[in-house]
Amino acid sequence: MRIYLTTLGCRLNEAENAGWARGFQAAGHRVVDTPAQANVVLVNTCAVTTEASRKSRKLVYQLHRLNPNARIVVTGCYAELEPAALAPLAGVDLIVGNRDKARLVNLVSELLDPHAMPELVVETGETHIYPGSRTRAFIKVQDGCRNHCTFCVVTLARGEERSRPLADIVAEVNELHDAGFQEAVLTGVHLGGYGADLGASLDELVSVLLANTSIPRLRLSSLEPWDLRPDFWRLWENPRLMPHLHLPLQSGCDSTLRRMGRRCDTDTFAGLAAAARVAIPDLSLTSDLMVGFPGETEAEWTATVAFVQEIGFAHLHVFAFSPRQGTAAARMRGQVVNVDKRRRSQQLHELAAGMKAAHLKRYLGQTRPVLWEREGTLQPDGRRCWTGYTDNYLAVETAVPPTSHLTNRITPALLTTLSPDGASLWAEVAASADRRPMEN
Ligand code: SF4
Repeated sequence: MRIYLTTLGCRLNEAENAGWARGFQAAGHRVVDTPAQANVVLVNTCAVTTEASRKSRKLVYQLHRLNPNARIVVTGCYAELEPAALAPLAGVDLIVGNRDKARLVNLVSELLDPHAMPELVVETGETHIYPGSRTRAFIKVQDGCRNHCTFCVVTLARGEERSRPLADIVAEVNELHDAGFQEAVLTGVHLGGYGADLGASLDELVSVLLANTSIPRLRLSSLEPWDLRPDFWRLWENPRLMPHLHLPLQSGCDSTLRRMGRRCDTDTFAGLAAAARVAIPDLSLTSDLMVGFPGETEAEWTATVAFVQEIGFAHLHVFAFSPRQGTAAARMRGQVVNVDKRRRSQQLHELAAGMKAAHLKRYLGQTRPVLWEREGTLQPDGRRCWTGYTDNYLAVETAVPPTSHLTNRITPALLTTLSPDGASLWAEVAASADRRPMEN
């Protein structure tokens, strides 16, 4: 089987695809880089918004047009919630609900290719690289969520919380490091709830990973603010845990937060942000904000804008509320009209862009470690561009002589200039750092 894997949606989906890619390879199948090369295409869908559902259907349609001979497997939250909308689409052979995801590799192998001989023999212990990136790996450590945010369809789609055993995660991180990855990002639907079903905790998982792996960078993806305990910050005493926190705020107004069913008010959030900034030097704090939640008045919206300005974020993901069938918020009165959602969304995007530029400017003149990820275009002076991220997740670009290869290397970089769009920094890599041949 030649399988192409693609995803829409969150980092958890990316982590799942990466895990399945390794699973398919270990089972002797070939993971390919383009849909045209595949005889099986796997789409991990998203249903977090109505738009995400629409894009999921569109992607399946486009993949079938690109390669009408490939058999299509659809999984993910949209496949779980609305299988009937996917089943009639041309090319779709198999729909795998979220509850069967753990068995996905076997299901696909058995149902779509029962008699095939493996095309690729994998030696025991050999790890293949997920196409697309050799620098940062997303590790799914748990699934499901016990919270009941009133807008959230993900919690309906993903079910009860299930955590992976500590030893499995340590083994996976070590395998990925051996395979060349420099950074592991821990992801989950409710990452802060890790281990509750195992008598463990996220704190313990991070401590165990720092003690039993040597991957240079460990990063946490989105964490619900109410899951953070005061002694959590001590984990950042280890410089291998990257100084970046993504804490979804969703609204900066307490009455909106109550309707959302969020378990954190603005005072608590402000206290956490302040404590984190004291404990973690040079922290980048990023967040998610939802605009146009049912009943959001102009006064509530103004309170949100003021609170976002008060906290100051390095980056914001802005979502417009869209009612999702089966959620409490979809049944609430006072749905906000689209024109107001668009206006609020634009206002928040503008605010977010200004805050990001201000955050980036604070680091001008500093030298920070950058993990270089991608080779870019040639400059008129013959140097080649590279892009990457600092430890605190600032997007950085540089140019080095064409004989230098930076991909998948961590080098010190002097941050010199803010890009014209204010979204990234230009850096100079020390001449001694840019000459080494590519590692791994
Ligand atoms: S914490 Fe809330 S928004 Fe996040 S997955 Fe759970 S229910 Fe959904």
